[in-house]
Amino acid sequence: MTRAEEIERHQPVRGPRVKKGLVIVNTGDGKGKTTAAMGVLFRAWGRDMRVVMLQFIKHTTARFGEQRAAKKIGVDILAYGDGFTWRSKDMDRTQEMARIQWNVAKEKIASGLYDVVILDEFTYPMHYGWIPVAEVLEVLKARNPDLHVIITGRSAPPELVEYADLVTEMRAIKHPYQEGIKAQPGIEF
Ligand code: ATP
Ligand code: MG
Repeated sequence: MTRAEEIERHQPVRGPRVKKGLVIVNTGDGKGKTTAAMGVLFRAWGRDMRVVMLQFIKHTTARFGEQRAAKKIGVDILAYGDGFTWRSKDMDRTQEMARIQWNVAKEKIASGLYDVVILDEFTYPMHYGWIPVAEVLEVLKARNPDLHVIITGRSAPPELVEYADLVTEMRAIKHPYQEGIKAQPGIEF
């Protein structure tokens, strides 16, 4: 393919729309889904846009680097979960917490108070069937058309991938974990 053809291929089919809220999905089993979403949060915040990140699964009391940064710049990153893994003992509680966080997400989406809403690790409650994908799609379709919503996590449901405007799959090529290197502060949490 020539360079001209390559450029042509990447042109929009219709005329460009100036403003459109996007549904963005960062999925796949490589690293970078959450941090890419936070890059957008930072970029949008820099433009005085109103941003919020709701973290599913991650422990309610987590004090990761991103939460510390958010506090310093006056942005809300709200974690509500019990740090679920497949070894969790109280799955009912894990599910209930995800549903409570989803109710908060719906309020934030409908509030008109935000330009960007990030639902971090939100693919898991859908993937495990705790929150119906159809309900999520209804909420996304009913949102203010200017609102950007970013969803992260592995195993994004196909219906969500189909509906989203921008989907990126992170693919793991190498991870220090495979070499027995532990998670590094500031890089992984
Ligand atoms: P990050 O938060 O660093 O952007 P992520 O959101 O893409 O990562 P998750 O699937 O949410 O990744 O997992 C979170 C943690 O698991 C991170 O500490 C990350 O470094 C680690 N991780 C991600 N991908 C892999 C992998 N392929 N092998 C081992 N650990 C991984
Ligand atoms: Mg993540």
